[in-house]
Amino acid sequence: MHKSMRKRALQLFVNCTLLCVILLSMPARSAIPFSSSRLAQFAQLPQNPQVRAALDWFKPHLSWINDEQARLTEIPAPSFAEAQRAEAVKVLLAAVGLEVHLDKVGNVIGELRGTNDKEIVLIAAHLDTVFPTGTDVKVRREKDRLYAPGISDNGTGLASLVAIARAMHEARLKPQRTILFVADVGEEGEGNLRGMRGLVETYREKLKAVIVLDGSGIDHVTTKALASRRMEAVITGPGGHSWSDFGIPNPISALVRSSVRFLNTRVPANPRTTFNLGQIEGGTSVNSIPHEASLKVDVRSESEDELVRLESALRECIAAGVRDEMENARDRSKGKLEWKVETLGSRPGGELSSDSPLLAALRAADDFTGNSSRIERASTDANIPLSLGIDAIALGAGGNGGGAHSLQEWYEPTGREIGLQRALLTVLGVSGIAAEKGK
Ligand SMILES: [Zn+2]
Repeated sequence: MHKSMRKRALQLFVNCTLLCVILLSMPARSAIPFSSSRLAQFAQLPQNPQVRAALDWFKPHLSWINDEQARLTEIPAPSFAEAQRAEAVKVLLAAVGLEVHLDKVGNVIGELRGTNDKEIVLIAAHLDTVFPTGTDVKVRREKDRLYAPGISDNGTGLASLVAIARAMHEARLKPQRTILFVADVGEEGEGNLRGMRGLVETYREKLKAVIVLDGSGIDHVTTKALASRRMEAVITGPGGHSWSDFGIPNPISALVRSSVRFLNTRVPANPRTTFNLGQIEGGTSVNSIPHEASLKVDVRSESEDELVRLESALRECIAAGVRDEMENARDRSKGKLEWKVETLGSRPGGELSSDSPLLAALRAADDFTGNSSRIERASTDANIPLSLGIDAIALGAGGNGGGAHSLQEWYEPTGREIGLQRALLTVLGVSGIAAEKGK
């Protein structure tokens, strides 16, 4: 960056940070106001030699960060089986002086005690991947690229979490608010954000900001939580022989009738609303009338109302399909069809206020690193705090990645230090830094 630009960026950062401090010290439930000397020190955040040292730590240690990322990625961690990878992250966080423990759902929590331990800033990266046990997760290096399922989502987040903790440790940075460095379980699919739900349940009263590191890139910031529901419809019946029992109600036939109805449900383009019939199962053999059929559906929307509407539409369509099938059955003597629709997962929506101190801290970090990022809506761990009115964002942790959730997933670490600096400054912006002792 050009020197004058850097100076301007610095000034902007200082201004935004000041604003941030003022906002932070406004009377909130449990906020302890910043003293004026601290405020002055906090305003000089990026000029603070320790902050500088932490920012400068990343670049000479990129190969260590990349190697740890590859090593963590090669430890399989499907949702609900994250324990082995959790153990490896625990060792890394403990090695940089954090007080580390595992909570009851399996999250790894490394605590960096602040001078104000009544308030907490949480930085989290999810441990789990969408890849089932048995997937080959060996990392292949080709020129500047690393290839492996999960290398970016969320190898990047995990390696960055550890790198930020280490940079702060090497620079002997002590925060005002306590920072929790967390590698959490159950972010993907049917994990249903259970790790983040557990964290928010435990720390809710003290939680002031949540920063989620998910995947790569520095081009976006997720401040809007995309609400979604995952549902499963199951239809059961008596079952029988395709020839001798012909005419009894058939669960697969009913499910097909129901599905066609549901596919004709209209969804608006604005607010953007989507649905997906993702998995269909059932049947015994080609010459059996099945006794069961099931369907998994994912629905997403920018509007909670649309989700509620689609959820009840699915129930109505299943009920109607079953009714059609029963009406068309020639033989009802062997029993009728039963149906149920269950919610497999529900991710609540929410939005970060545009004048939140957390967003101001992120914008200041963007300015300082010469980055600009767009606001995005997505479904991430940030959904849980956002739905409860707790400030939260999700960020890519730097570098470039692609092919997420596919076996061709890749990661390019070039330039990742910008993403690391951006995340570090955002965390420090909301945690504040403690005055140095012994001076
Ligand atoms: Zn992810």
